[in-house]
Parts: sequence; C-alpha cells; structure tokens
Amino acid sequence: MSTSVPILIAGKWRESTSTRTGPVFNPSTGREIARVPLCTASEVDEAVKAAAAALPAWSDTPAVERARVMFRFREKLEAHADELARLVTREHGKTLSEARASVQRGVEVVEFACGVPSLLMGQVLPNIATNVDSEAIRHPVGVCVGITPFNFPVMVPLWMFPVAIACGNTFILKPSEKVPLSAVRLGELLSECGLPPGVFNVVHGDKECVDALLTHPLVAAISFVGSTAVAKYVYETGAKHGKRVQSAGGAKNHLIVMPDADLEQAAKAIQAAAFGCAGERCMAGSVAVPVGKIAAPLVEMLCERASKMTVGATDTGASVDMGPVISKEHRDRVASYLDIGKQEGATVALDGRSAAKGDGFLIGPSVLDMVAPGMRVARDEIFGPVLSVIRAGDLEEALAIGRNSPYGNGASIFTSSGYAARQFKQYFNAGMIGINVGVPAPMAWFPFSGWNQSFFGDLHVQGIEGIQFYTRHKVTMTRWFASAAESSHDPIWKTEKV
Ligand code: NAD
Repeated sequence: MSTSVPILIAGKWRESTSTRTGPVFNPSTGREIARVPLCTASEVDEAVKAAAAALPAWSDTPAVERARVMFRFREKLEAHADELARLVTREHGKTLSEARASVQRGVEVVEFACGVPSLLMGQVLPNIATNVDSEAIRHPVGVCVGITPFNFPVMVPLWMFPVAIACGNTFILKPSEKVPLSAVRLGELLSECGLPPGVFNVVHGDKECVDALLTHPLVAAISFVGSTAVAKYVYETGAKHGKRVQSAGGAKNHLIVMPDADLEQAAKAIQAAAFGCAGERCMAGSVAVPVGKIAAPLVEMLCERASKMTVGATDTGASVDMGPVISKEHRDRVASYLDIGKQEGATVALDGRSAAKGDGFLIGPSVLDMVAPGMRVARDEIFGPVLSVIRAGDLEEALAIGRNSPYGNGASIFTSSGYAARQFKQYFNAGMIGINVGVPAPMAWFPFSGWNQSFFGDLHVQGIEGIQFYTRHKVTMTRWFASAAESSHDPIWKTEKV
C-alpha cells in the first residue's frame, strides 16, 4: 500500500486533512509509491501564519547564527547525499549518477548560503553631507514561498530556501506534487539543524494550493520554477497581489557546431546535453545547429552514439545510460513529437520509441534531422530525449535562430575560433552561454540567468541576485549634534533663517 506524504507546519509533521490526493509514481516501474495530499486553502493559510509568526524572532537572529544552521544543514546533506540521490532516482527516474550530481549542485547553494554574514553587509558613506552619514543595509523581505518543478526534486528547492532562510526570511515550500518525497526528506534534515518551528514549512498540492499562496496577504515573495505558461501566470498573479516574484520557465536550448569544432568532443557533449536526465532539463541541449559541411558527419556520429545508449529502470542497481521520463502521459507526449516532426517535413534519423521495454515510462533517444526553424519540433519544449537538428549555412544564420526563439535559457557553441566564440557570446539571444560546454548551467555563485520567455521577473535564483531577491534595502541618514546651538543649523536642507 502506498504511504501518505506529510506536510510540515509550525515545526510539526502531520497528515493533511485534504480529501483530494494524487499519486506519486516510481517511473522505473510505473507503480504508485505514495499518495500526496493536495492541500486546501485553509492549510496554506495555517502554513503562512506559522511562517509569519516565526518571522520576527528569526529575522532578529544574528546572521552568524543563521549561517551556523546552514553549516549544520550542509553537513547533514553531505552525510545523507547518497540517500537523497536514491530518493530522487526513485521518484523522478533519473540515473543515480545524475541524481548524485544534482544533489551536489544543491549542496553548493547551501555552501553559498553559509557565507551570508558577508553577503548581507551593507554600504556606508560617511559625511554624505556635512556631518551626515548615510547607510544602506539589507533587511529580509518576510514570508517567502517556493514552488518547484518535478525535474530536480532536491536541487531546485535548494536554489531557494537555504538562501531565503539565511537572509532572515521564513519559508513555505510547495514542491511538485509528482516528486514530493525528496522535499519532505530535505525538510526533515533541516529540522534536525536547530531551526525554530515555523521558519520552514512544507505544503503539497496543485493549482488550488498555488493560488492560495500567490494571493495570501502575508506572503511577501514568490520563487517559482516550472513551465513557461505557469511561470507567466505565477509572475502576473503574484505581482498583481503585491508580491516580489522571480519566475523561471521552460526552454529550448541551441547547440551551434562550427566547421572548425572538434567533432568528437562536440558530439559527446551534445549527446550528454540532449539525452542526459532523459532530456528533462531546462538546460537540455534540444536543438543542434551544425554549420556547413560538418552537418552530415555530426548527425551520423550523434545517431551512432545515441543508438548505443542503454535505456531502462534506474532503481535496480543495474547501470543504464538513461532512465525513464516522469509519467506515462509525458512519455506519450514526447513520442508524439516524432510524428509531428515527420508531418512537418523533418527526417527521423533515429527513432527511440521502441528502444526500451518494460513497465516503466521508458523511451529511448531520438534524433530529428532536416528541421526548419519554424517547425513545432524546433520551437516547442519537448522535455524528453528528442534532439532536433537545424542545419545552418553560416554563423549569422545560426545566430538568427537564437534571435527568433521565444525562450532564452542556455545556448552553446563548439568551435576552435575565438572570433566565432566571441560573436556567439556577444550576440546569441540567451542568458546562459557555453563555449565548448554542452550544459552551461551556472553553479551556486552565479545567477541562473534565463532570458525572454524562460524567465519572468528581475532577480534570478543563485549568486548575489538571490541575496538581492530575498532582501530589501533600508537606507538611513544619520546626524548627531555637537551642541544644542548646532541643532538650528541644517546642512542638507539649508532651512536656517538668514
Ligand atoms: P509545471 O509548470 O507543470 O509545474 C511546476 C509547479 O507549478 C509545480 O509545483 C506544480 O504543482 C505547479 N503548477 C502546475 N500547474 C499549475 C497551474 N495551472 N497553476 C498553478 N500552479 C501550477 O512544470 P513541471 O512539469 O513540474 O516542470 C518542468 C518544467 O520546468 C519545464 O518547462 C522546465 O523547463 C522547467 N524548468 C525550468 C527551470 C529554469 O530554471 N528555467 C529549471 C527546471 C525546470
């Protein structure tokens, strides 16, 4: 029998009272492993009030003490990294080595958050006017909310709450209802690090729960990661209700291969970028753009490499190159894009639909060649192991493909020309650029800098932008009087009577 996933409110783990629930699957077996409650607005209200009640004491806790909680949390995560990776594999389906790498990326955000006393330091300018000092210091914003997608069950929540909490905010996490188990485990580990009750809370659910969070008057800031349509909705709804919002959406990422590239290296990197994590990455390299005559040999190399990938269950201990996708519906949707591509005039150079058998949500890697920029397979985020190949005549044509893409997450170039690399870096229309790097996902110290329809808002997660998002400036001007006589003299406003 599958277990019910608990919620965390005011330091207590408990069963939700919601009558609506959803299934959590093990994508490797296709079997249900848990039931997740879809929380009601009244449970959300309780969680927000718990976070609001914990806010005054937590925001007054010295930054060095808040940082110490993060140091302890980092040690916990390190000690439980393998367990967390196995949980990610179990409920998401990615391979264990992919899961381990994703946990590591998340731990690095906690390491960044450990430096919060330095990161929170303000600015002072003494004597900005005669005898007047001015300072800008960072204050927490208040109750913060994180709403996360299914594809990185540990890493994406860790992009948000460690930084928010270290900055003195309190937090409510609403993980994807498809992968709630990893988030619960993160919450349990954090609870063992000396965090006061109510500082971190977990609720589960779908649109009803999200809407209650987006519109709650006590919520100050929303961090969202998910598909573009929902990201836009979250941004607009949150902003309409007076919240600060950072909202990351979907993507279609281009990998340009110049004629002077090391083809072997490029093919290896593109294979990993396109098919790693079964293509379920916002930074997946989903469109290869070979320039000039190298197109045919590159496609051949890619198909040969991809056809040798083993695809199967990831929770059996057997080693496979690629695991299942998240659900049966998603597998069918991904598979349908091969027919869509064919109808649009693309060539199916590699068909992965029958590459794997089993009860899991399996689909092998596929390559669509002769794709044109306007086709759906060139523009839609398929979010599965399907690589589209658009052949370009020159670098300018490749840059134009980026200019016309609605998204703007990642893009890479493979070349040995410094000039081509510079042109690409300068002019490709995306916020995260790789030069001979297949997945240019920034690490914790740099912003995860999506552009266009891949991001709504101003300040991204990670790095200094994360600190800026979770804090607001208070600017103080100070003047002390040497004597009562001087108090009649105001050097700023010059209001003294002459
Ligand atoms: P999703 O948009 O379906 O769900 C994301 C979150 O929104 C979940 O918590 C879900 O419960 C909630 N949600 C879903 N529908 C909603 C609705 N109508 N109203 C309110 N809330 C709703 O995304 P997903 O399928 O879980 O994740 C995959 C997507 O996330 C892909 O598009 C991927 O590119 C994107 N993603 C982006 C980044 C990035 O940094 N840009 C990182 C990871 C994933």
